[in-house]
Order: sequence, then C-alpha cells, then structure tokens
Amino acid sequence: MISESSLADLRARNSCCDVAGKWVSLRRGARKGRMVGPCPIHSLDRAAKDSTSFECWDDGWVCARCQDGGDVIRLVQQVEKLGFREAVDWLGGAQETDPAEDARRARAAAEKKAADEAKNAAYREAERKRCWEFWQAAGPLPGTPVETYLRDIRHVDWPAGAALRAHPAMPYLEHGQDEAGRKNWRRLHEGPAMLAAITGADGRLAGLHITWIDLDAPKGKLALVHPDTGEKLPAKKVRGSKAGGRIELLRHAAPGRLILGEGIETVLTVFTALACTGRALDGLAMWTSVDLGNLAGRAADHSRVPHPSERTPAGRVKQVPGPEPDMDSAAVPVPDSVMDLRLLGDGDSDPFTTRLTMARAERRHLVPGRRVATLWPPAGHDFNSMVM
Ligand SMILES: [Zn+2]
Repeated sequence: MISESSLADLRARNSCCDVAGKWVSLRRGARKGRMVGPCPIHSLDRAAKDSTSFECWDDGWVCARCQDGGDVIRLVQQVEKLGFREAVDWLGGAQETDPAEDARRARAAAEKKAADEAKNAAYREAERKRCWEFWQAAGPLPGTPVETYLRDIRHVDWPAGAALRAHPAMPYLEHGQDEAGRKNWRRLHEGPAMLAAITGADGRLAGLHITWIDLDAPKGKLALVHPDTGEKLPAKKVRGSKAGGRIELLRHAAPGRLILGEGIETVLTVFTALACTGRALDGLAMWTSVDLGNLAGRAADHSRVPHPSERTPAGRVKQVPGPEPDMDSAAVPVPDSVMDLRLLGDGDSDPFTTRLTMARAERRHLVPGRRVATLWPPAGHDFNSMVM
C-alpha cells in the first residue's frame, strides 16, 4: 500500500505539464495556467502545431479525442502502458512520509500562505494610502489645465461634487524590477493630471484613475514615449485597486436611475447633453466602471463565443467571453434603489466583443422590477467624439 500523503507528495513533485512536455510540445492555452497541444496518448505527430485536443495544468489533464483525463499517474499509465505501481516508480517512486513530518509541512505551508496574504494586504493598503495622499494633494478643477482639457478640448462639463480633482505635478511611474529583482520605480514624467477617485465596494477610496494632460498634444492627453524602447505609453493609468469599484461623477445617496459607462469623458458627455437640454436630473446618478470588464464582470466559464473574424496566433478561431455572467466575479455594484439602469455602449472598440460585454452587463444587473438597457452612439463613434 502506498499512503495517500506520499501519493500527494509524488503528484506535487511531478506537474502534469512538465511530464507531458517530455513527450509533446505544448503551448500556453487560453485559460490561465493551462497548456495545450497534441495528445501524447493518441497523437502520432507529437510535434503537431495545430492540435489542441490535449489540455493540461499542474495537477490534471484531459484529452477530448481520447475522452480521458486524470492525474499525472494516470497520464504515465496511459502513455507508457504501465500499471499503477510501475507508473509511480516511473515518476521517481513514492517516498514513505512520516505523519508528523506531513503535519509539520502542512502547517508550514499554511503559515506561508497566511504570511503571503498579509504581505499582499499590507501592499494594497500602502498603495491605497499613497492614492489618498495624491488625492489630498490635488484640488478643484477651475483654473487648471484639467478644466481647459474638459471644457475646451473634450467639450464637456462636470457635475458639482464629481469625484474629480486636478493634480499639478502627478508622477508617471514605471513599475519594474532591477537586476537583483528588487522593486524599482522609475519616474518617466511628472505633470498636470486629472485624478478620479475610485470608490471600492466598501464605499472607501480604493484607487485612482489618472489622466495626464498635455494641452498641446492631440486630444489634450499626454503623448509619452518610453525613453528606452520608443513604445507609446498610455496617457491614462489606474493606481490602487479597480475591481468592483466605480467613479461617481453625478452623486446620489439612493438613486432611482443610474447611467453607467466605461470612460469618464463618455459619461460627462451624456451629463452635459442632459444638462444642456434641461432634462431633469433628480434621482439620477452617473458613474463610470473604470473599464469595460468591471462593467460586466467575467463571463461564466461555459460562456464562450467564436469571434467572426479574429484568429489566434496559431490560426484558430478566437473564442471570446460570452453573454452569461459569472456572478461570483467582481463588477460595479448597482444599488438596490436603481429601477432604471442605462448602460453606455462604446462604438470605438471591437464591436463584436463590446456587444457581448454589454449583453453580459445587462444580464448581470437585471433584477425584478428594474429596467436595463444599453444606449449606443452611431457606428464608429463614441458619445464624446460626437460633441468634439
Ligand atoms: Zn488523446
């Protein structure tokens, strides 16, 4: 008899991906931590580049053709045509472990996990504190380049009380590591920026959405180029945490209506249009979701749709996240008081994926008694490009 703990130890020492990699050439799969390639059991051509019937991860594998799968021991049994005991020996043999030693190892692993979690929590809290300090160092928009950017370049106004401030000299940092693997923050730029406060699910400041301004650049946004690589760098960045967060532009304690979009300029454009046309804003809140993923959350694992034109590097049809939401993933929490939710679509990114994302957001936020609809700008436009 081989004890369960020594089998667990054997499995931990032999990752399925490493073992399968001895027979076939695998490549990274679409899902995190997954490798795909030709099946070492049934494939005659074990170097085939187009085969994806076999998929493995650290502690398991499946083959769609063989309709088989399991742990690393079963994999060795199937490929090498061995019995269980022989497969265990093939993998280096089971080492009998001492129960006291097993318990000590399990305790050490639990302690390490707790220490890593504490370290991550401390890191997140320190970053949240830095965000708070930048927010405190920033001020109201009037008289700053941010006001000029919004009013004269993007042609939008903002609601009183919007979670927006102007920072006179916001550092643009590159987050990297030096040769010794130490954290190394490099300052690539410092200049005026629009800060938007990201409110977390707990109602506290979770992070900042930052837009660096250069009034002489196209669309008023900083056009920064990496000093070493010449690569164009984005004018917008998020610091701190955005998952499940929102930026409150028009605030309301218990809104009956909510307009929710992805970008600050998009939502401000719709606000400006409503204000200009004298529409009633009572009971209305307007938020941004920081990014599109945060609007809809992740798709359920089974919800994947083939893209009509995009292909993977291997030339296969690309599968993109579908309309069924994974309700356990983080997304903007829509308040229970909201009976009318309008989502703002954006015509300037890939329309196929965007439509699926908005369909997923509609399903995610639909509750009995609430009306949910997506508003779309004309093809090829976003709401702000219409006013610009
Ligand atoms: Zn197979």
